[in-house]
Amino acid sequence: MSKKIKISGKNEYFKVNNIFCIGKNYFEHIKEFGSSEKPEKPVVFLKPNSAVISNGERISVPEYNGRKISESLHYETEMVVAIGKDAACIKQEYAGDCIFGYGIGLDMTLRDVQGEAKKKGLPWGTAKGFHSSAPVSELVTKSATIDLMNLDIELKINNIRKQFGNTSAMIFNIYQLVSYISNIFYLQKGDLIFTGTPEGVGEVRRGDRLEAVLGDNLVKLNVEIDG
Ligand code: MG
Repeated sequence: MSKKIKISGKNEYFKVNNIFCIGKNYFEHIKEFGSSEKPEKPVVFLKPNSAVISNGERISVPEYNGRKISESLHYETEMVVAIGKDAACIKQEYAGDCIFGYGIGLDMTLRDVQGEAKKKGLPWGTAKGFHSSAPVSELVTKSATIDLMNLDIELKINNIRKQFGNTSAMIFNIYQLVSYISNIFYLQKGDLIFTGTPEGVGEVRRGDRLEAVLGDNLVKLNVEIDG
């Protein structure tokens, strides 16, 4: 089953291929984890495309052997960039040509599972890639009038603002990210890049309603926590 995301204002869908995610891309978020070290290169990890869910769907912590695998489900609100064509070894000045559009997403994280993996020096796959860990809004096709590097990112939970940031605060901007990923991994049509979260991450509980907004209501994502 391939995952598809609706294109805003059209009766068309964007078929999702690989999902690249960037960690530690906002300094204020790095600081809330007790560090003051800016990464020298983008921190890249991946989620499977089965992690994608859309507006109105529900996020749930997986169970295994009859037990929830985590007690600490966290949100991270991030601008998502959608790649419109295969792109290998792209220079930064041409990176914009590869971008199809953008949206807002949540990099849902099992913080206790991630903490345990970090402590043991193991990969984060389970903590970041579980089913429903990548809610994404409809995608807006790029236009010359919208500056992707100056958009507000906001998350409200049960109508209370929990995160607020602006894409101008990214350590590596989206053109640097596209260039970097296209050189290391190669980018393909259908790929998504989660570009990192600003500060203010935290925990959610069953029944919480999350609303993420990009820019001046350019696009919104509404999802609910199932537990
Ligand atoms: Mg993240």
